[in-house]
Amino acid sequence: MKIIMFGFSSDETPFCKKWEEKNQDKIKCVTEPLTADNVDMVAGFDGVSTKQVVSIGDESVYHKLNQFGIKFISLRSVGYNVINFNFANKYEIKIANVPAYSPRAIAENGLTVALNLLRHISIIQERERQLDFTIPQELMTDEIYNKTVGIIGLGHIGTASAQLYRALGCKVIGYDPIYNASNEPFVEYTTFKNVINKSDIITLHTPLNSSTHNMIGKSEFDGMKKNVIFINQARGGLVDTQAMIAALKSGKIGGVGLDVLTSEAQFFWKKLTSAQELPEDYQELAKMPNAIITPHSAYYTKTAVRNMVEQSMTDIKRFLAGKKPLYLVDL
Ligand code: NAD
Repeated sequence: MKIIMFGFSSDETPFCKKWEEKNQDKIKCVTEPLTADNVDMVAGFDGVSTKQVVSIGDESVYHKLNQFGIKFISLRSVGYNVINFNFANKYEIKIANVPAYSPRAIAENGLTVALNLLRHISIIQERERQLDFTIPQELMTDEIYNKTVGIIGLGHIGTASAQLYRALGCKVIGYDPIYNASNEPFVEYTTFKNVINKSDIITLHTPLNSSTHNMIGKSEFDGMKKNVIFINQARGGLVDTQAMIAALKSGKIGGVGLDVLTSEAQFFWKKLTSAQELPEDYQELAKMPNAIITPHSAYYTKTAVRNMVEQSMTDIKRFLAGKKPLYLVDL
């Protein structure tokens, strides 16, 4: 089969090559996202895969795809808001995504950051840069197996996180409105309030929607244990950033690990030329030695990139063979 892959990045090269060799398929890689400007490139291809943050465009794009015989678009991402489902349905184009390319990638990143904060690794490194190799009492810490870890949202990533913390001997408690019995061996389901009140480490893994927006605000920070380690790798909008900064300043929070921020679109994944371009919330957080910020990179492992390519190609192949795609988004 001949596939055109939009939104291609060079880190996908080895996985595309491997797929081509294994399946005798041909993949044409296009760096730009699929839009009205380049939709004509699709002519002559059997399948379309894309990874992009911008919309694929207006009705004309769907109309053209239909004319080119394209009945299926496979997104190499979790999000599918780049698609207009009214047009996709009108032109009988099915859509699939990659809902879980590697939950473990994000879970491992969260654990790494939590351990760093617990053991003050970044603070110690910074002191060493200032030629200070002493170990004052405030650097004394605890061991992770003593800790209660609270997980909010026990889906793909929350579950992978629970397994990791449990394997280290932590007491793992969690809240999710949907109970999943298969999580029982490594997490004790409890209330949201209990997770907030009883955890030494809290890690957030829910989707962002109208009911979860700012789910962690002043009253939640007030209810947390002193010195809590707070990790958010899910979405910036889940947390009231100003309340979090205030809780850090007051000494309530022992450390935060953030892979997401509400302001992230302004600077994550960009090389800035001046610090003035940084949003205010980041500037405040960056001054704090107990805040670790990563630029929405928790997912970024070889396994995750491989799975984005493999799962997307697998679904195109299934669709073209008349089988149901594994990750159909049916809206
Ligand atoms: P998922 O859909 O598998 O799981 C989400 C879980 O949250 C579900 O079990 C759901 O029932 C639960 N939930 C919904 N509302 C809740 C609430 N109010 N309180 C508690 N739980 C609630 O999603 P996932 O793949 O595990 O992703 C989790 C988050 O991680 C999402 O926000 C996603 O966007 C984000 N994410 C981040 C990265 C990264 O690189 N930082 C990568 C992938 C996903």
